[in-house]
Amino acid sequence: MGLMRDIAGTASSIIKGHKVTIGNFFKKPITVRYPEERVDYPKGVRGIPSQKVNPETGDLNCTACGLCARACPVGIIEVKAMVGPDGKKKQYPEVYKLDYTRCLVCNLCVEACPFDALEMSDFTELSQYRSEDLVFNRDQLAEIWKRSNAVRIAGGEKI
Ligand code: SF4
Ligand code: SF4
Repeated sequence: MGLMRDIAGTASSIIKGHKVTIGNFFKKPITVRYPEERVDYPKGVRGIPSQKVNPETGDLNCTACGLCARACPVGIIEVKAMVGPDGKKKQYPEVYKLDYTRCLVCNLCVEACPFDALEMSDFTELSQYRSEDLVFNRDQLAEIWKRSNAVRIAGGEKI
């Protein structure tokens, strides 16, 4: 009697398991073959910070004040101001680097910037063979901003 119950229980489990497997076999897969296929991210997705570019002058808004570097909780921003021929520091970054291997995508650098020079982009593709390739410089950060479709806020309105 006990043996028959065991056999019936096992058979029932096998049938249930196969029903799930066969049911999923005919469903459309929800995975994509990245990088050949890509998913469409919803508008407003937050990627890494980028450097905004003034559309009229082509220059960065950044004044190399360094407040973002101080606000970054993991210390991954390096800023050095340009030095003019007179030996005085200019309000423009000679060096602006971000090490994305450790970025928390926390937005604190953007909030700390008093010159509206940073923006969280929609750039999320951060796979490289060498970690050095994820340290982005000033010009790379500006290019990321130009290509980004992140939701922008101006005067309280999303644009
Ligand atoms: S998003 Fe956060 S962790 Fe990344 S650079 Fe800005 S402050 Fe640092
Ligand atoms: S991005 Fe903003 S906070 Fe950072 S150095 Fe430039 S102006 Fe200052």
